[in-house]
Amino acid sequence: MVRKREIIDEIEDVYRNALEELALIKDADSIENWSRRYLGRKGKINSLFSVFAELSPEEKRQAGARLNEIKNELGNAYEKRKEKSGRKKGDKVSLLFPGKPCEVGYLHPVTIVTRKMTDIFAKMGFGIVTGPEIERDYYNFTALNIPDEHPSKDVWDTFYITEKEKILLRTHTSPVQIRIMEKVKPPLRVVAVGKCFRRDDVDATHSPVFHQMEGLMVDRDIKFSHLKGILTHFITQMFGDNTKVKFTPSFFPFTEPSAEVSMTCNICNGKGCSTCHDTGYIEVLGCGMVHPQVFRNVGYDVSRFTGFAFGMGIERLAIIKFGITDIRYFYQNDLRFIRQFS
Ligand SMILES: [Zn+2]
Repeated sequence: MVRKREIIDEIEDVYRNALEELALIKDADSIENWSRRYLGRKGKINSLFSVFAELSPEEKRQAGARLNEIKNELGNAYEKRKEKSGRKKGDKVSLLFPGKPCEVGYLHPVTIVTRKMTDIFAKMGFGIVTGPEIERDYYNFTALNIPDEHPSKDVWDTFYITEKEKILLRTHTSPVQIRIMEKVKPPLRVVAVGKCFRRDDVDATHSPVFHQMEGLMVDRDIKFSHLKGILTHFITQMFGDNTKVKFTPSFFPFTEPSAEVSMTCNICNGKGCSTCHDTGYIEVLGCGMVHPQVFRNVGYDVSRFTGFAFGMGIERLAIIKFGITDIRYFYQNDLRFIRQFS
């Protein structure tokens, strides 16, 4: 009889513990775990059926009936608890179901081209520098040998912030060259990058805000042939080895001699098309040997040093490289446009 009492107590203990544990469970996985431990094939309830051996047939019947009752009640409690946790019988969580995608950012084509340009010059030993966008008239014009009567100084061409002290939004990145030369003695090899501002009406090829890259190299015995070599290497690195480069005489106040640099049109490969006006060439940048007066303005000894400078519009290079038809696309913040270049 003692054995019977023990078995009934054990059954009731398991039942009580099972209900207490189930009440404390918070998540769906723990409910499944609980079900396995109590109601599974090797669970506690099934193992209790196997301890009836010592009981008389009548005792076995009673204990068995109670155990079956408990098994059913725990089974019902399990279904109810599972329903409350939001998962129905037979439901499975698929870990393969994709999560919410992250929005990935894209580099702006002006940034892509700027990085490519600075990479090429950095490999040739050029340092990358920047300067203020709000500039003094002296750095933007006077120190660069641009005379007072020059049309670029007109209020119709330049944004002046204060007319009296002549503070303005820089019209090119060239003032950075002056600022660097005031601080650093030759030899010197730098490119300056940044925003520039001009009073241009917005159309397919003009924007009042645009980006420029400017280069400067000063040392003993720097010749025009060095300038040609550096720029030819830059253009072929940028647009491919088969690109031909042409230097045409030109004029800038801060360089002498000066040249416009053109490259074979990358749309028609030099055969002639509407983009290159049937010439086979498109203008890319302006350059020249630094005017001695510019060196004098920063205190460089013109009998010892010579140098060259060049400047180019970054949007212009991006337009040529990617075949973009309108400069306004750069600033409209349209993701359909920006996503195309990464
Ligand atoms: Zn062409």
